[in-house]
Formats: sequence, C-alpha cells, structure tokens
Amino acid sequence: MPNFEAVIGLEVHAQMNTKSKMFCGCDNDAFGKPPNTTVCPICMGHPGTLPAPNKEAINKAAKASIAIGCEIQEDNHFDRKHYFYPDLPPGFQISQYDFPLSKAGEVKFNVVDDSGNKVGDQRICKITRLHMENDAGKLTHRGDKTLCDYNRAGTPLMEIVTEPDLRSAEEAVAFAQELRRILIAVNSSEADMFKGMMRFDASISIREKGAKELTPRSEIKNLNSFKSLEKALNYEFKRLCKLYEKEGKHLKNDITVGWVDDEEQTKMLRDKETAMDYRYFPEPDIPPLHFTKEDIKKLKYEIPALPSELKTKYEEMGLEDFEVRMLIDQPYSRSVFDAVYEKTDDIKRSRSIVLTQLAGIVKAEGDNFKKPDLDFIVEQLTELIADSRITKNQEKEFLSDIVIDGMTVKEIVESKGVRDVDESEIEELVNKAIKANPQAIESFKAGKEQALGAVVGWVMKESKGEADPAKVNDILKEKIDN
Ligand code: ZN
Ligand code: MN
Repeated sequence: MPNFEAVIGLEVHAQMNTKSKMFCGCDNDAFGKPPNTTVCPICMGHPGTLPAPNKEAINKAAKASIAIGCEIQEDNHFDRKHYFYPDLPPGFQISQYDFPLSKAGEVKFNVVDDSGNKVGDQRICKITRLHMENDAGKLTHRGDKTLCDYNRAGTPLMEIVTEPDLRSAEEAVAFAQELRRILIAVNSSEADMFKGMMRFDASISIREKGAKELTPRSEIKNLNSFKSLEKALNYEFKRLCKLYEKEGKHLKNDITVGWVDDEEQTKMLRDKETAMDYRYFPEPDIPPLHFTKEDIKKLKYEIPALPSELKTKYEEMGLEDFEVRMLIDQPYSRSVFDAVYEKTDDIKRSRSIVLTQLAGIVKAEGDNFKKPDLDFIVEQLTELIADSRITKNQEKEFLSDIVIDGMTVKEIVESKGVRDVDESEIEELVNKAIKANPQAIESFKAGKEQALGAVVGWVMKESKGEADPAKVNDILKEKIDN
C-alpha cells in the first residue's frame, strides 16, 4: 500500500465580539435571549432598508488580520453573495469577494501532546485571506418542521482561509487552536466553541508521499469543535485512501460532505458550488472601504502581545512548555505571574506559587473558582514569598486561605502562627556552617559577595527551610566580621 499524506486547508468562520451586528444596530449578544428578539428590518433584509457597516467590527477584523500577519488591503469592498436558504432572509450574504480586507499572512504553530509538550518542529500555515461578512440565522429541525431563529442573522463574521499547508488532522487542530488564541488575544472574538463562535470547513486531498499530484479533494462542512475537526479529517483521509486504492489515479471524488457527529462519519451533501453560482457583485449600498497607511500604522500600535511573542518571552525565562502554554491560555494567571515576578524578582518561587500551587487550586475548584481581585492576590502572594518564616508546607495551606477565603497573609499568620526559629538556634547553625564551608568564607572575605549564598543555603537546609534567611545573613556577616 502506498504511503499517503493528507493535504489540508481550512476555512474558519469566527464571530466578532462587537456590541452590535455587522450592518445594523441590533444587539450582537443573543446568547440566552428568546428567538427572534434581537432583529430589525435591516438584518431581516426588508426591502428599502440600508445596511451601515459597523466600525468596531471593521477594526476588530483589521486587528485580527495584522495578528495573523496579513497585509491590510488599502482599498477593499463588500460584495453580495447570492443564494437562497431559509436562514438568510435577504437572499444574499454581504461578504467580500475579490477585494478582501486582508491577504497573505502566516501563523506559526506547534503540535503538542496531552501534557502540553511540543511534538516535532514548529510548523507554518500560510493564510490566503481574511474577509468580513455577516452570519446567517439558525435553523432547528424538529421532525418534519424547521424552526427559524434570526437572532444570529447579521452577526459580524471573519472568514479566514488558509493555504493547503496542513498535513494531518493533528496539525489542523493545532493550527486552529493557535488561531483561536490569537483571535482572543487581540479581542476580536470570544471564540467560544460551545457557543458556536468558531466554525470550520476543511478541504482535504491525498497524495503519495513525495508526489506533487493531488487526488481530487473533498470538502467537509460544518465542523463546530476541535474534536469533530480531528475526527472528520481522520475519517475522510481513510476514506480517500481506500477509494484511491480501488480506483487509482482516475479517482473522481470532488465532493462536499458534512460531518455527522453522532454517527462519526461524513455524508455527501451536494455538488460543489463554484463561485459563479453565487453571482457575486459589489454591494451597491455600501461605499468601498479605504485604509490610509496612517490608519494601518495606528492599528498595529494597538496590537497587544501575541501568543507567539509571549511564548518566546516565557521560553527565554526558562519555563517548561506546559507552563508557557498555561500563561498564554490563562490571562488571569499571566497577570498574576508577571506582577508577582516583577515584585519579587524570584523566578523560582513565582513559578512554584503561581504556576504550580495556584494553578492546582484553580483546577481543583473548577467552575466554582472566583478570581480574586488582581491587586489583592498579587500583594498577598508577594508577601507570602517575602515572609521567609513561612515554610513550604504552610505555604500551600496559606495559599488556599488567601485565594478561596480572601484572607491576608497578616491575618493568617496571626490566626495560625508561624514557627520562628530563634536566634540562638540560628547562631548555632551559623557556627556549624562556617566550619563546614571554609572555602566559601575565604572567597567572601576576598570580596566575592555572592559566595555567602552557599553558606546561607547550608543553614536553610539544616533548619529545614524554617530559619529566616535575612536573619541568617545578618548573623553570618556579623560572625565573619568579628
Ligand atoms: Zn438588525
Ligand atoms: Mn463565509
């Protein structure tokens, strides 16, 4: 059997988190609202109404474009894409066709295993284009009836199209997850998968490894989760390989299929529509968009640190893959970590307290976890690290008192007490330490300030971490001076 590889491209639709819809003033947050309550004559496509493009949406799409490395097209415009379907009241979607908002970007990503460790080399998926359009309504099929809810009709969408640069279902998922992180980072989309805010269509062909020639592709529609994206691509890959085995190079299989989640298989939908069928033409009711170089420059300034930049920053600090991933995916933990590290300048303790212990509590609490006020938590964690009387074992207990019960370190110390190693004990240990570390003491006397660290460390170890290092330091220096 020949060795096949998949050639995969994605089309991603992401809803933008704007206040109002793409072309009217309707509330864009329809979640949990009764059907057909966030609609108006414009998004319902009544004759004689005029669409007005949403500036917030255009800015968000432009920022997303920059974040995925796309070039904003200074001149671009909206087009009408015609098709009839009950979820599309006007009979056309306002989209962008030959002059999209932006083109030619790329997203770097890594495939990771279940524990968040990188597998293989970094990969790049080129982005063909990003354009704006409006979402359609939502149809619910009940028996032989269909219910229409138009709350979603008119929600601003970004459609992001990739080059066929992905080589496996795993890569497609890893790319899609990275893209999701980027959209969230620039605040262009909530990208909440459960609410259907990010959806995928995938096209897949196969070829013998090393060959240039592709088999006809199939297109998989309506994938609403990373799991179904992965399962559907794996299913289609196997199906295409089997077909190829049977029919060889003459394989004719250029079809559109849908993924049926419950049955875990793809099913034929309809013949592939070509662009011609949509009768695209420039939207006559909306003037073309124009971005000046100044506009684009301004937008670039507003782009926050992107996941890839955060990744480089934290990797350079020596953090593990899983820690880096956590800081990228959890803005709250990131803010806490950054602030605590900045205040304490203690990378080891910041990591252990924020990325191990605090993360453990957050995970254990699950949905019950209420994020404490950022300033409060940073202040308390900084104090926890600074108070050297608090032992490692106590630390864990204290942390949960702070995070869950909202107590301050001061309050906890007052109510629970800390073991304070008294000075005579420290003096005794320091005497021993001086005898045990003659070389370090000599170096210190010769002017090497940092040599003392080893001696203090020795005392800390002997006291099982319970002595106050500041006190140890003072007593040690006093003894050496005398
Ligand atoms: Zn409306
Ligand atoms: Mn689309």
